Amino acid sequence: MKRLAILGSTGSIGTQALEVVAAHPELFEVEILSAHSNAELLIEQALQFKPNAVVVTDEQKYIQVKEALSSSPVKVFAGSKSLEEVVQWDGVDMVLGAILGFAGLSSVLAAIDAGKHIALANKETLVVAGELVMERANKKGVRIIPVDSEHSAIFQCLVGEDINNIEKVILTASGGPFLGRKTNYLVNVKASHALQHPNWTMGAKISIDSATLMNKGLELIEAKWLFGLRNDQMDVVVHPQSIAHSFVQFIDGSMKAQMGLPDMKLPIQYALAWPLRINNNFKRLDFKDFPKLSFEQPDYKTFRNLVLAKEAMDKAGNAPCVLNAANEVVVHAFLQNKVGFLEMSEMIEKTMASVAFVEHPTLEDYQHSDAEARNYASEFVKKSQLSIY
Ligand code: NDP
Ligand code: MG
Repeated sequence: MKRLAILGSTGSIGTQALEVVAAHPELFEVEILSAHSNAELLIEQALQFKPNAVVVTDEQKYIQVKEALSSSPVKVFAGSKSLEEVVQWDGVDMVLGAILGFAGLSSVLAAIDAGKHIALANKETLVVAGELVMERANKKGVRIIPVDSEHSAIFQCLVGEDINNIEKVILTASGGPFLGRKTNYLVNVKASHALQHPNWTMGAKISIDSATLMNKGLELIEAKWLFGLRNDQMDVVVHPQSIAHSFVQFIDGSMKAQMGLPDMKLPIQYALAWPLRINNNFKRLDFKDFPKLSFEQPDYKTFRNLVLAKEAMDKAGNAPCVLNAANEVVVHAFLQNKVGFLEMSEMIEKTMASVAFVEHPTLEDYQHSDAEARNYASEFVKKSQLSIY
């Protein structure tokens, strides 16, 4: 029996993780659940899964959750400091990091410091502070099992392989809802359109990141740290059907791919059950439904976020942290129709040029760079024509 802390249980990944847990009561038990402000769903989940404790990080929701669970034995805590404490409890075997954005970093680091194995969905944790996170994990002997579908694919391709035999990894990208579109079209697209991903159903932020290809840029940085790769060992290929979830090419030229229907429950289940591979009743891939699998080069000229992310990765230090913070701010603004689709790249680029470079950041430096980048990006957002009118 594995006892899980599911951080971000009310999100797209969190709710799917709970479906996996519910389907395998003989393997999994929920020890901790956390949400930010969706008190109603957190309460519902607590009553169904009966965890030892829940944490609502938005402290204003504490009373509501506490009162609703007053006649149950579930302990209720509020605030992100509480989250950092409960993930370290003896009763927790594995932590699923499925909080969104920079906010997910501190609880994952706390869990690593307590020697808990991590199933990691929150890619921003590795984008922002990958070097530090992996260093601490290695020191503690903690395994970080990827949940992100591309990284789960690579992880699965590497089972039984010597990591030194990797020549290259190739991340697949669906291309998102605007594949093939050019800037004259993109200049006018709205959030409602950008949220309609052709293959995956995901949270709002990552859906926008998929539409801008920032998601793939973040995933390159995530892969670099997870698998200890050099920047020139990674590539991206657009694969609109999202069936091959990524490739590993080895030193003899042989390539492996992991394939399946685009369903996040599969990589979630793989990470939670690891090192086991367990059964399920998910819909199976039938090649009759996919007579053509195609692959093409990304359009770097139109989707500039992918280039910006690569630049941040090459620059290293606090550059990916700054890129991530600026991206979180502009995506949030785009979702509220306060900035245009193409403006997002411009604002990220300007933020990257504005924040001072730190070559070897500490955790405090990352926190500082994140805050500074958010300030700059917010100022750029305020100056957007869409924000003003
Ligand atoms: P959602 O927006 O659907 O869910 C985010 C979760 O995090 C919710 O439980 C939310 O709580 C919580 N949360 C939000 N802000 C905070 C905060 N400041 N402090 C604490 N908790 C917070 O996101 P997704 O599930 O889509 O994504 C989660 C992570 O997984 C992201 O890093 C994403 O990149 C990654 N990922 C997601 C995939 C997907 O298919 N969705 C695929 C691959 C990776 P509340 O509901 O109360 O607001
Ligand atoms: Mg992914």
